[in-house]
Amino acid sequence: MTMVYEEALDRFEPVLGLETHVELGTKSKMFCGCKTTFGAPPNTQVCPTCLAFPGSLPVANTMAIESTIRIGLALNCSIADWCRFARKNYFYPDMPKNYQISQYDEPLCFDGYLDIEVEGQSVRIEIERVHLEEDTGKSTHVGGATGRIHGADYSIVDYNRAGIPLVEIVTKPIPGTDRLAPEVAKAYVTELREIMRSLGVSDVRMEEGSLRCDVNVSLMPRGASEWGTRTETKNVNSLRSVERAVRSEIERQAAVLADGGKIVQETRHFHEDSGTTTSGRSKEEAQDYRYFPEPDLVPIAPEAAWVAELKAALPELPLARRKRLQAEWGVSDLDMQAMHNADAFDLVEATVAAGAPAADARKWWMGELARRANETVTPLADLPITPAQIARVTELVASGALNDKLAREVLEGVLGGEGTPDEVVERRGLRIVNDEGELSAIVDQVLADNADAADKVRSGKIAAAGALVGGVMRASKGKADAGRARQLILEKLGVSE
Ligand SMILES: [Zn+2]
Repeated sequence: MTMVYEEALDRFEPVLGLETHVELGTKSKMFCGCKTTFGAPPNTQVCPTCLAFPGSLPVANTMAIESTIRIGLALNCSIADWCRFARKNYFYPDMPKNYQISQYDEPLCFDGYLDIEVEGQSVRIEIERVHLEEDTGKSTHVGGATGRIHGADYSIVDYNRAGIPLVEIVTKPIPGTDRLAPEVAKAYVTELREIMRSLGVSDVRMEEGSLRCDVNVSLMPRGASEWGTRTETKNVNSLRSVERAVRSEIERQAAVLADGGKIVQETRHFHEDSGTTTSGRSKEEAQDYRYFPEPDLVPIAPEAAWVAELKAALPELPLARRKRLQAEWGVSDLDMQAMHNADAFDLVEATVAAGAPAADARKWWMGELARRANETVTPLADLPITPAQIARVTELVASGALNDKLAREVLEGVLGGEGTPDEVVERRGLRIVNDEGELSAIVDQVLADNADAADKVRSGKIAAAGALVGGVMRASKGKADAGRARQLILEKLGVSE
């Protein structure tokens, strides 16, 4: 039972909340020295500590703490000068200790915000907290149709992931997004992903689970002042799914509420195939976890000087970078969006750095090369051509040695492994004919072969010269300068424009 999205929005106002887990890319785990390589054979990256053997003791990973502080700073958070880890007690087969070391009422970073842009508007997302915890292992349920535990013959568990440092970023409730709620959720996760990338703290691959998102949605009737009951859709694992999960929950909750029903506070599962959610388990309250301070770890007390140093060393963040590049390149919002979608910023920037004018760099990457990337289903950055090579091609065009058509042939040659742009020009003989004698001879031949057209031009029908220029271009295999060829034709036929 669902309500059409537009009607749901006419009657109800959505409030969002997003909890994002980011697996840090540290070389070793959060509390032991085990490796964190993705895809290693099951249970080969484990030790007594991450398997929770009695008597083993955790030691916190400094790099993970540093990365978390950097994330907090990039999200404009305050950094705690003293905080502790806490035990979150629950049983699950993929968690060998039967508790997870997490943070509870003393998060490392808190009270921040992230500004994002949605349909040309700036939206501020308030960040409640950024805390550090450890990941769980991974269960695989074998034999059932759905891959879930229900209907499975047996389950196996891989503890390689158990103990990998995990950062949880929790927003405050996000009211006021209205019809744009699904887009806001997607834009927020997208921006977060880019920030993680620019900080170099995680590879943020949603398909591999190193970025996972839980999406909270509640609805309240228009004009009401009290928020509704929220549901939490777990582990949504693509940007598109974030958007779809919000939309589908709005449509479902609206139908339940309109029918006089109540929303149950629960976790829900998102199904990629249908784009809908189904009920999971009823949501635990914090008290169900019996949190208490982790007695085996010392508190974290980052020195102010260290935090200041990390803050000063933050890289340029994605939004600031986009604004700077847009101003430098002088392009429209729409073109920026297209480059963003094509993942072309780094390539265009590097091509400009190699000496190409921004307009040319953008033209080639977003035109010819984007087309090639599409055809071959290759990410733009993986095409076998470098920004420096594109810059060289634009230089050859600017110097008059190539026209656009020949430049495209040069690119084709480079992409085909024929060598550098200069080598391809040499081998394929692609230089424009700018030897007057050679061009003049071609023009003479074309005039002789097309006497009718030549007569028409002589008698004043200058429009007929186009066909003759076309003949010269064909005869020169596209290497003539069309403007100069036209001048020569008119000169030889004794007419002027
Ligand atoms: Zn270990």
